[in-house]
Amino acid sequence: MSFDLVVVGEGGGPDETNLSAYLFKPSTAPWEDGIVALEAGSGQGAVQRLLHSDPRLFNLPGHPSPRTKPYSASEIYSLVRCFLISHAHLDHVNSLVLSAGSLGGPRKRLFAAKQTLADLERVFDDRIWPNLASWDEDDDNSKLLYTILDISDAYATLIPGVSVRGFQVSHGHNAAGNYDSTAFFIRCDVTEREFLFFGDLEPDELSLSPKTINVWRVAAPKIPGSLSTIFIECSWPSSRSDDMLYGHLKPEHLVHELEVLALEVAKVRNTASPPARPARKRQRLNSAATSPPSDVRGVLNGVRVFVIHCKDDLDAPGRPNQTLIIAQIKALVEVKGLGVEILAARQGMRIQI
Ligand SMILES: [Zn+2]
Ligand SMILES: [Zn+2]
Repeated sequence: MSFDLVVVGEGGGPDETNLSAYLFKPSTAPWEDGIVALEAGSGQGAVQRLLHSDPRLFNLPGHPSPRTKPYSASEIYSLVRCFLISHAHLDHVNSLVLSAGSLGGPRKRLFAAKQTLADLERVFDDRIWPNLASWDEDDDNSKLLYTILDISDAYATLIPGVSVRGFQVSHGHNAAGNYDSTAFFIRCDVTEREFLFFGDLEPDELSLSPKTINVWRVAAPKIPGSLSTIFIECSWPSSRSDDMLYGHLKPEHLVHELEVLALEVAKVRNTASPPARPARKRQRLNSAATSPPSDVRGVLNGVRVFVIHCKDDLDAPGRPNQTLIIAQIKALVEVKGLGVEILAARQGMRIQI
């Protein structure tokens, strides 16, 4: 195992108590060595409630922590060394903003794409919220230190032993043009195992600026050896019409995206197989390029996909939309035979990666 991850929140609204937020650390290190906060929709309030029902949420069995007594929510957030944010929509930054003045522990880096940081500066503008973040490495008065995550080939270090590589993905468009979110490959530098986390995204097949294919092409050669866990949104159930998605996925689009990934994986494997003769290699490449859908059966064996960001229907108890969305995705994946395991991320869940 490479990472321990706790789901602080996984909803896509409107329930403000369960918004996108994940805390993780390398599995060989204690929480005290530093936590990465991936998205910050919900935060300390949600953790406090989770600890009320499961006081030992962060006291993992066989865990290398010196701590035996339960942690408090503020203790956990004081151990956060950096935030990693996919885009600045409120459901991904709400608690980051609200808690910026009261975070304990050392100064925390705020990693995001340049545009996302520019968006956050508009929130920390001393009008909507006090200015509690700065670009100055020496400004210890600001708890948050803006740090641009370059969208490039390189991995950036988040905390010792954990690196990230970001990709832009399209998340709809507004009057100003295309609106981007970010997908992250998060790597344990010791084991070289990774997981892939998508902020919100729209389907490439509907996008004016399709970019998710770039993520799948980089992911394909890693699957499933060094990459077998993917977090990706599915905000709406199948009944939602395509013109009402507002930059999000529904089950048909999510499964199509997974099929695109499977095709990329199949291509990599076909190309990687040593050909007996050059002529056969050409033949294989040609057949991969025109792969019928049946060629992707079982290609994603060993991959698990955690579905996140299901939008809730608060007219009914429980999470009826999430349950429906997961069932719809599973049914579609079954038909395609992709081999991928579909799981619902749930608030309060501990996930080992
Ligand atoms: Zn969102
Ligand atoms: Zn969003």
